[in-house]
Amino acid sequence: MLPFKIVYGEQCILPMGTHVFPADKYRKIAERILQSHLAESSDFVEPVRASDEDVLLVHTPLYVEKLKKGMLSTREELELEVPYSPELVEAFYVMTGGSILAAEIALREGICIHLGGGFHHAFPDHGEGFCMLHDVAVAIRKMQRQGRIAKAMVVDCDVHQGNGTAAIFGSGEPEPFPKPAWSASMFAPRRPAHMKTGDNGNVFTISLHQENNYPSWKPASSIDVNLPDGTRDEEYLHWLGQALASARERFDAELLCYIAGADPYVEDQLGGLALSIDGLAQRDRMVLQFARDHGIPVMVTMAGGYADRVEDTVTIHANTVAEAAAIFR
Ligand SMILES: [Zn+2]
Repeated sequence: MLPFKIVYGEQCILPMGTHVFPADKYRKIAERILQSHLAESSDFVEPVRASDEDVLLVHTPLYVEKLKKGMLSTREELELEVPYSPELVEAFYVMTGGSILAAEIALREGICIHLGGGFHHAFPDHGEGFCMLHDVAVAIRKMQRQGRIAKAMVVDCDVHQGNGTAAIFGSGEPEPFPKPAWSASMFAPRRPAHMKTGDNGNVFTISLHQENNYPSWKPASSIDVNLPDGTRDEEYLHWLGQALASARERFDAELLCYIAGADPYVEDQLGGLALSIDGLAQRDRMVLQFARDHGIPVMVTMAGGYADRVEDTVTIHANTVAEAAAIFR
């Protein structure tokens, strides 16, 4: 039995057809953690579908209407990079509800893992890169709206930069494409100090990603760590530690949203970093231990993972659950 709840439901499977995104990975992760006796069926909680009101906390009324009525333009569908269907919209509403539930449980119990979510490329007015709705942003905004938290932190370790997250929570001032800032200067504050008391300043965003990868335009996160191609475990973990320490100095979070992408893996088809499966587990340990040490409730979402062998992606995600179990036991 796990010392925390797992949000997962059969309806979380994304109807994408044949696609590089292994839409059935969530079911495989659930099976894996059950078969390895890491989890029991009583550890699982079904997601509750998000409402329009929830989704509208982040997304524009026009975009939501387009999704519901199937009115996306060809360009918008191409940007989304997944085949539009009303069923897919429905699945994203469930995914978003799953992340809201994970945030609620995390605030009550200290940690919750959603076997789904982490759709960090969705913007308020459009979707991109397989991401239709920004589940994590909606969850944060709902917790803030309900007065359960004021300040949240997003720690995004997917290989791709969290452009949607940065656009939603950033200052709204697009910054030029970051230069290869392979130095401590990348941790300099990007926003004036007064932003911290404003609405947008209440969400601190960290993105650790491969610089030479999608998205080409990377709006500024609070901390962006632009990693060079082929970055390996040791270097990656060093920079993750630096980013977390810097964030801790600058911000007190009441909820940590960990986006645990499996795609920094060396054998990922859409990633160019070189982390090992063990290195990714160490990464999980570092983020989760950080949350535990500082008493910050943490919700985990899975995000990307496109390994040559789907089983590797499943192993990486299942390891995240195992690391959390060891730390929060
Ligand atoms: Zn990714």
